[in-house]
Amino acid sequence: MEPREKLSLGSIIIKKGREFGADLVGIASRDETENSPSSRLAPELPRIKVGLGDGKKDAGIETWPGMAKSIVVIGLSHPQEKPEMDWWSGKGSPPGNREMIKIVNALKAFLGENFPEVETFHPPYHVENGGIFLKDAALAAGIGTIGINNLLVTPQFGPRIRLRSLILDIQLPSTGPMNFDPCSGCKAYCLENCPRNAFSEIIYSPEETGLERLPGRKGNYSRLKCNEEMERALEESGNGQKTICKFCRRCEFDCPVGQDL
Ligand code: SF4
Ligand code: SF4
Repeated sequence: MEPREKLSLGSIIIKKGREFGADLVGIASRDETENSPSSRLAPELPRIKVGLGDGKKDAGIETWPGMAKSIVVIGLSHPQEKPEMDWWSGKGSPPGNREMIKIVNALKAFLGENFPEVETFHPPYHVENGGIFLKDAALAAGIGTIGINNLLVTPQFGPRIRLRSLILDIQLPSTGPMNFDPCSGCKAYCLENCPRNAFSEIIYSPEETGLERLPGRKGNYSRLKCNEEMERALEESGNGQKTICKFCRRCEFDCPVGQDL
């Protein structure tokens, strides 16, 4: 495909993604996403002993399909007044995830019909099941930045956003990253009410990890402590088998970015 056609296809994908229901759509290259801090950190986790298991299931190491060259990242706003979007009930996917699956499948079908020369792959959500690090892909695609709360923070919806992706076998122009850093100079409202104090101590250092960008920026995000809160929510709801499981999200709700005054 000629460069001119690639630019046009990128724009068509973004327009169609929105038309199918996405709130935000961006495109990142595989190289940018594959070299992201999360991808590079995952294999190191057992060595630096942050207690995330054997580095396979818990830490998650990406397995990219050979055809992958670009990633279309789909963002769906998850406002506080629609908590049910990520409520798990039994083994089925939560409603928000189902909505995103529909959007990505519609985009995949559209590309199959109109651009049959472009091969597409809809990866699973979890990295340990063959997914990719979506926050890093979204950063590279210019959808937002990674905030002090270790979440993707978007100008439009703050950290209240959910992500999914579609992989393409064609290198399209990237739509990011964006020059946006609301956390610089912010009082970090997002960290004030964490019920597990998941940001209370430094766990990762640049020397040990070889990375400048660390979880929670300073290396103070403890996924283990946050997981404890998730486990509590699961236990409270009968392990998610029969009743609805409601997650915490304080670090999302307390961020003023994307909120009405
Ligand atoms: S509350 Fe402030 S520091 Fe926290 S994510 Fe939002 S902008 Fe960043
Ligand atoms: S989801 Fe809750 S427990 Fe986890 S880091 Fe955010 S505020 Fe803390």
